[in-house]
Amino acid sequence: MTRREFSICGGAALGALCARAAEPSDAGEGTLKLRFLGTGAADWNGRDERGEHRRFTSILVEGRTLVDFTSRCRDMIPDGCRPDTVFYTHSHGDHYGPKAAVALGVRRAYVHESWAKDAERVFRAAAEKANAAAPEVLPLSIGTAVEVDGVRFTALPANHATGRLAEQTIMYLVEKGPVRLLYATDTGGIPARAAQIAGIDMHIRGGKPITALIMEATMGLGYEDDFRIYTHSSVATVAQIVRVLEKTHRYAPAPGQPVWLTHMARTLHGTQAELDARLPKPLCAAYDGLEIELRAKWDC
Ligand SMILES: [Zn+2]
Repeated sequence: MTRREFSICGGAALGALCARAAEPSDAGEGTLKLRFLGTGAADWNGRDERGEHRRFTSILVEGRTLVDFTSRCRDMIPDGCRPDTVFYTHSHGDHYGPKAAVALGVRRAYVHESWAKDAERVFRAAAEKANAAAPEVLPLSIGTAVEVDGVRFTALPANHATGRLAEQTIMYLVEKGPVRLLYATDTGGIPARAAQIAGIDMHIRGGKPITALIMEATMGLGYEDDFRIYTHSSVATVAQIVRVLEKTHRYAPAPGQPVWLTHMARTLHGTQAELDARLPKPLCAAYDGLEIELRAKWDC
């Protein structure tokens, strides 16, 4: 295990990287720091019979911005961090928790425009009940980019469905300087339109490579034929996407930087130790509390 100190929100924090991760650079400018607050799918509910624990999937970017947030991962926000913006991927309860965001003091909540009106109503009710200020609910359309403290979040369409027939679920391209992270959850594969906006569509000559990938693997090794494949990805899906992106120079990570897996279902994966031992390189299972610094390849 490679460990290195860095600060994600002003205070001291310990960044623990997977054994296969590269040593982070000393240059803060060209890096994107994030913390996994939760790495599990909706079937997690506290510590299980194996002694394993994953919270619902969520990340904290640069100590300031959340992508998805529920009450389950509140305890993973480091002391001293005051995130005030949340970008939601979709309205499923393991990603979207208005009460928790209000309690945290979030001031801006971005959701896809297809369900923004409903989100606004739910946030207002949650704020009234808590006697707190309601965050501003801001609608996003596909391809829209929003910058928060030098980090740019672009909404991309995901291949995922919720109970609302009209809802467009989204994932994000997260950019800071030369770092271009595709944060892909929840989604079955990478839709062509998302690849096009991110610059990794096979039809775009040259394209613009992503330099980091965090992708959902709801299904683990041996569960490739699971029925959820239409709306979620498996380890095999991610491995195949990485092979194709590498082969076509659409993925240019810093040397040794893993592809991080998240949103892992409790019943469809082994323990963290088993994942560490069995996942094919460069795939690496994230875990709750893991902090990483993503870098771009030097020459891209
Ligand atoms: Zn979902």
